[in-house]
Parts: sequence; structure tokens; C-alpha cells
Amino acid sequence: MLKRLIEWIEQSDNIVFFGGAGVSTESGIPDFRSADGIFQQGRQISPETILSHDFFFRQPKQFYDFYFEKMIYESAEANATHLLLAKLENLGKLKAVVTQNIDGLHQRAGSRVVLELHGSTARYHCETCQRVFDLATVRQAAAKMAGVPRCHCGGLIKPDVVLYGESLDQTTLMAAVDKIAAADLLIVAGTSLVVYPAAGLIDYYRGDKLVLINASATSYDRRANLLFNSRLQAVVEPLLAHFGA
Ligand code: ZN
Repeated sequence: MLKRLIEWIEQSDNIVFFGGAGVSTESGIPDFRSADGIFQQGRQISPETILSHDFFFRQPKQFYDFYFEKMIYESAEANATHLLLAKLENLGKLKAVVTQNIDGLHQRAGSRVVLELHGSTARYHCETCQRVFDLATVRQAAAKMAGVPRCHCGGLIKPDVVLYGESLDQTTLMAAVDKIAAADLLIVAGTSLVVYPAAGLIDYYRGDKLVLINASATSYDRRANLLFNSRLQAVVEPLLAHFGA
């Protein structure tokens, strides 16, 4: 099976990779949905509620306390999957990484065409004047301003992350559709394909080389032309050894 995947990669110059939380967990970044929520006035508040559009504007301090503690992993390093994809892009084989992750590890590993469906914790903007900020600046601002980072204009600074209750960036979504529709080899990994819009995006693929790599079964397993029911690492490390880091 691995041999066939290597052949397909060797033959292709139009690969698209679609990755989910499983890509990041191998860098030690837990799926935030598994995080504990917070207690407020004797009530448990779930991560999904805290990371929602409404909660962000109503309780920015509680939002940012949770966000900095549970969503930011600055010491996390790119793993074999990130390195392999950057390498394949450099070789002219891979045309895009489409990701549901927000940690920016693909760019840190050297990938250039990264379509971040859910945004990124690396970028921020002022809700009032749209000025942009990086993470370090926002952290400093939060520390100086009792936990709520504000712009020089007084506006609230918001992460460029798609919160619950917000729609995806349409430009990013359409770019992902275009890349997937044009791909000859589509590798889908580390996602159970239940989180919107993952499953719908796969439907745009028209080729006959759909590779699925996931530790647990997914409803798309039967559609895969090549299926690896295993951890990502077990598949990627031999590929990295073959194509070079
Ligand atoms: Zn501003």
C-alpha cells in the first residue's frame, strides 16, 4: 500500500493535502474540543460556548484567558507531516495544503500555499479600524490591559480565527474548492470528516486517487482508493525518508 502511495506521489505534480486535527495532535497540540471548559457562577461553560462569536464580544476577558491557555502552543514544533508537505511543495508536486487547524505550523515548516479554513492564531485585527497585529503584540497588549487586548484606537482586537457562530471566509473556501476540484491526487488525513465543511469539500474531488489516512474509521472509507487506518506518523515517516526532508 505504501509502495503504491509513493508511486502516485512520484507520478503527480498536482497533489492537494486536506488535513484535520490529527495533523496537529502529533505536534502535541490537543484537539480543543477535548479541553475542559470554565466554571462561571457555578455553571460549566463549554469550549464551544467560550469560542463563540457572542461570547467573545460579551466576555472578551474570559475568552482571552481561555484562548491563551488552551489554544496557543508556541513551543509546538512542526512534525513529519508538516515537513513532508513543505518538501513536496518545493519539489513542485503539491499545489496546496487545505487545513482545519489554526496553529500556523504548516507555514513554520515552509509551506507557502496554505488554505486555513478556520483561520489562524498567528493573525489578529482591530474590530474598529481593521489594523492587523501578530500574536506577540496581542499578548503584550492583553498583559498590559487587564486581559483584553485593545488597539491604539480603542477597538477590541480579535483573532483571525473562525469562531462558533461565524461563517468561513468565502475566498479561502472557494480557493480550497478550486484546488481540490483540480487535484489529481488528494490526500485526506487526520480528520474524521464530520466537522463542517470537511466532508462537503471532499465531494469536489473528481480524480481516482483519493488517499485517506485516519486512525479511526470514517464514513468516507469506502470511497477511498487507498485507505490507511493508522496514525499519520506511521505513513508519513517512510514517505519523508523516501522524498527527503
Ligand atoms: Zn483600531
